Amino acid sequence: MHGRHGEDPTAGPTSAQYAYPPVEHEARIQQLSDDLGKAGLHPFHLPIGVNLAQDEHGLATHDSVCIRCDRVDGFPCLVGAKSDAQVICVDPALTYDNVTMVTEANVRRLETDPTGRTVTGVVAELRNGVTEQFSADIVVVAAGAVNSAVLLLRSANDKHPGGLANSSDVVGRHYMRHNNLALMAVSKEPNPTRFQKTLALNDWYLGADDWEYPLGGIQMLGKSDADQIHGEAPRWAGAVMPDMPFEVLAHHAVDFWLCGEDLPLPESRVTLGKDDAIHLSLDEKNNIAGLKRLQHKLRGMLGHLGMHEHHLLDHSIYLHKGMPIGATAHQAGTVRFGDDPRSSALDVNCKAHDLDNLYVVDTSFFPSIGAVNPSLTAIANALRVGDHIAARLS
Ligand code: SF4
Repeated sequence: MHGRHGEDPTAGPTSAQYAYPPVEHEARIQQLSDDLGKAGLHPFHLPIGVNLAQDEHGLATHDSVCIRCDRVDGFPCLVGAKSDAQVICVDPALTYDNVTMVTEANVRRLETDPTGRTVTGVVAELRNGVTEQFSADIVVVAAGAVNSAVLLLRSANDKHPGGLANSSDVVGRHYMRHNNLALMAVSKEPNPTRFQKTLALNDWYLGADDWEYPLGGIQMLGKSDADQIHGEAPRWAGAVMPDMPFEVLAHHAVDFWLCGEDLPLPESRVTLGKDDAIHLSLDEKNNIAGLKRLQHKLRGMLGHLGMHEHHLLDHSIYLHKGMPIGATAHQAGTVRFGDDPRSSALDVNCKAHDLDNLYVVDTSFFPSIGAVNPSLTAIANALRVGDHIAARLS
């Protein structure tokens, strides 16, 4: 993890500084940071997990695993330099002799003993059509916010008629995804940045002078290219900017990601149909007022940030796009944790209240999603629960 505690005005207390210094801004983003600072705001270096060794200019050194390419956002890293689950969890785990990974196995249900207190079997369909049952002293589910809930619901039995670990009836409920908005502004000066995802702004995260509720956070997106712009906004071809081909537009694009909080509504919910199909019910307009205000704040600043103004009627150069369900990257909340077994499925160690040996350790445990990427919280919690399980086993 690269970052610097103390820069984000909304960050909580911390026991230690980040192990690695922040990923440096490239020149245009440094200018943006300076301009935001002059406007009285508090931009900070986005905490980000990449295996990057950088020189004083932020350039990747010759021995760096990360080559600081222009594909960090939304793409798998082809050189294994991104701190994703494969690189920092699965691959290191597989170096242990007592770890085996079974791939292309579809876990269908969890079986319990007659008391319903202990998971005794993990039933999986293997690729060759064979059904196999695995067993363990402790079973950890980490299938993602939708599929973890689905597995528990599908594992209903006499002792757990509403689904495993679901005496509270919360499993599958409170599904959350972020309210996201991608916004591409166009810089008056070229923006040759390759690795753009280095800056974030949380000045309106908790509220604003004219709004007492949280608006959300702003961070940079990976740098858009001509093909992406063409795919997202073909109407722009010649109509809005007749003198600016996509390649030139891309060379001036500055890409922002606005993230607002989705609220945990009981009726936003994952359920299983009679046909075993997964159903997802949600209100896509849940709590979007703050995000709209955040968008308005950023749009109002573009002229001060060296960007073209944003009045579409003035042939301004501005694009925004809300993210539909198909673009979901962050989802959480369907197996929430808490102190009270009547209103939560998991205890504070992410163990099911209703069972003695079942843990759920992914973003399902979140009781709220906040307005920042959930990966780092999921990773931190997994380490915390890992310590708890290790202590329990010993
Ligand atoms: S995708 Fe590119 S920028 Fe991102 S970690 Fe890999 S090499 Fe680095």
